[in-house]
Amino acid sequence: MTHIAVLGSTNMDLVTYVDKAPERGETVTGREFRTVPGGKGANQAIAAARAGATVSMIGAVGTDAYGARLRDTLEHSGVDTDFLRTVQGPSGTAHIVVDAEGGNAIVVVPGANGTVDHLSPGDEGVIATADALLLQLEIPLPAVVAGARAARRHGVRTVLTPSPVQPLPPELLHAVDLLVPNEYEAVTLTGRTDPREAAAALLELVPEVVVTLGPTGCLYLTRGAEPLVVPAPRVTAVDSTGAGDTFAGALAVALAEEKPVREALTWAAAAAAISVQREGASASMPYRPEIEARYG
Ligand code: ATP
Repeated sequence: MTHIAVLGSTNMDLVTYVDKAPERGETVTGREFRTVPGGKGANQAIAAARAGATVSMIGAVGTDAYGARLRDTLEHSGVDTDFLRTVQGPSGTAHIVVDAEGGNAIVVVPGANGTVDHLSPGDEGVIATADALLLQLEIPLPAVVAGARAARRHGVRTVLTPSPVQPLPPELLHAVDLLVPNEYEAVTLTGRTDPREAAAALLELVPEVVVTLGPTGCLYLTRGAEPLVVPAPRVTAVDSTGAGDTFAGALAVALAEEKPVREALTWAAAAAAISVQREGASASMPYRPEIEARYG
């Protein structure tokens, strides 16, 4: 079975639905409150596990009740949490206010994720046995760099989702094999407005780039080959939260299984298309048989 390691964040999303977000000093009554397990690291881990891989999650949760629930959520989808540490203090939280028009305001408090600023004993060993390492930018950058370098030392493919978008230092880029930005991230990283030009600029920095383009699909570039455009299946989206993480997790599995690139992208697009037709982030992620059915 394919083995994917994920080094990244776990967060509890605390989501409040209001008619209108409060101004400074104002108190409003909300309509509904939900706690939703998330964090890009955990989401990608769940996506990859449901897509059929053995997945090891490397990161940290806190000693609060959220930490236990975040761990349970991962385990429930089959993710191995032996390298998900429990550290004294609160888990990572995202405080989200969603207004009646669907607009949102978000405060992220890193909590336990902030302690993941280095590799802990054992982490490199897990990375070394993986077929791919999935990385995002919701934990301190030094750990992301250390993880990518460890993967490189052991010949393990690294897949980086550059979110939240921020300048990528050369020592990180040197150890990244595949960069998977969405359109906004690709444009922000390069200053180019056209996604194709942005992808080409990113290809100067890493060997392979996939820019995800929402309902349009994705664009893949590698050196010395024509760009590939893979359309997304046409579906009615009800909630696209987590679509990018579903795509990245499924793509890593397909590539690790040595599917040809176009097939791997089509497979990932099938997984993401299923997820946008259902509510929730990780809750909406499909299991392998569903992806196979959609893909076929
Ligand atoms: P999110 O932040 O919502 O998780 P993202 O901004 O990181 O997503 P997108 O480019 O919006 O990433 O979406 C990732 C992939 O998900 C797309 O490349 C596409 O394959 C799929 N996808 C997203 N939205 C739709 C949609 N409405 N219909 C079909 N597929 C979709």
